[in-house]
Amino acid sequence: MIEINGLSKSFGSLEVLRGIDLEVERGEVVCVIGPSGSGKSTLLRCVNLLEEPTAGKVVVDGTDLTDPDTDLDGARRHIGMVFQQFNLFAHLPVLDNLTVAQRKVLGRDKATAEKVARENLERVGLSDKADAMPAQLSGGQQQRVAIARALSMNPQVMLFDEPTSALDPELVGDVLGVMRQLADEGMTMLVVTHEMQFAREVADRVLFMDGGGIVEQGPPADVIGAPKEERTRTFLARVL
Ligand code: ATP
Ligand code: MG
Repeated sequence: MIEINGLSKSFGSLEVLRGIDLEVERGEVVCVIGPSGSGKSTLLRCVNLLEEPTAGKVVVDGTDLTDPDTDLDGARRHIGMVFQQFNLFAHLPVLDNLTVAQRKVLGRDKATAEKVARENLERVGLSDKADAMPAQLSGGQQQRVAIARALSMNPQVMLFDEPTSALDPELVGDVLGVMRQLADEGMTMLVVTHEMQFAREVADRVLFMDGGGIVEQGPPADVIGAPKEERTRTFLARVL
């Protein structure tokens, strides 16, 4: 579903990603862990070309996003992304937050877009919040709206960049619960997270990144439970 080959990214003289190779299978859940500045967000942003790679190839669902002839907007429709900051439209009620892109980008009519929006609000446990304004919701609810918004575009892949890092601790569980449910439904997911418990229980594979490269990867029981590399052990000792 995602094929990354020789992906490098530099900002000026700063080399942030150094030749990443990564394949994510359909239905696979891959969690990315690693210290601050190791390139996790940059990797995720390169998957939908929010950052343009300096070198290498990114293919998602058969489409080469790094091919200059590719219709990027078309390809991005199949890739949902959820950030630490929820980025909801503050001036629009929840339902409209979920319908805008469906109508503009997918050309769905109002009734269809609203039906899809309500289905996805139900999926994240917020059927009763369709008419609320974002500011009336808790952070956890806003993040679940952001997830429902991404799902309303029927993505083939979901990218999550520390979706719970900005939340009060008591709100984290609801968001992780929704992500766990998505994983159970077979969604292909690439998740940058500091939630080791979630990674342990939900990930099919964990990647440990440091210094712009993948240092170690494998099943969570290996990478988190019995890391081989010293750098992984040092990192885990700090976060566990
Ligand atoms: P964190 O855990 O803090 O979110 P991260 O692993 O996600 O860290 P990135 O955000 O990918 O790390 O950043 C990797 C490096 O690239 C950092 O040194 C960062 O300062 C640098 N960087 C990221 N984006 C830019 C940019 N647009 N311009 C210049 N440097 C950047
Ligand atoms: Mg980051």
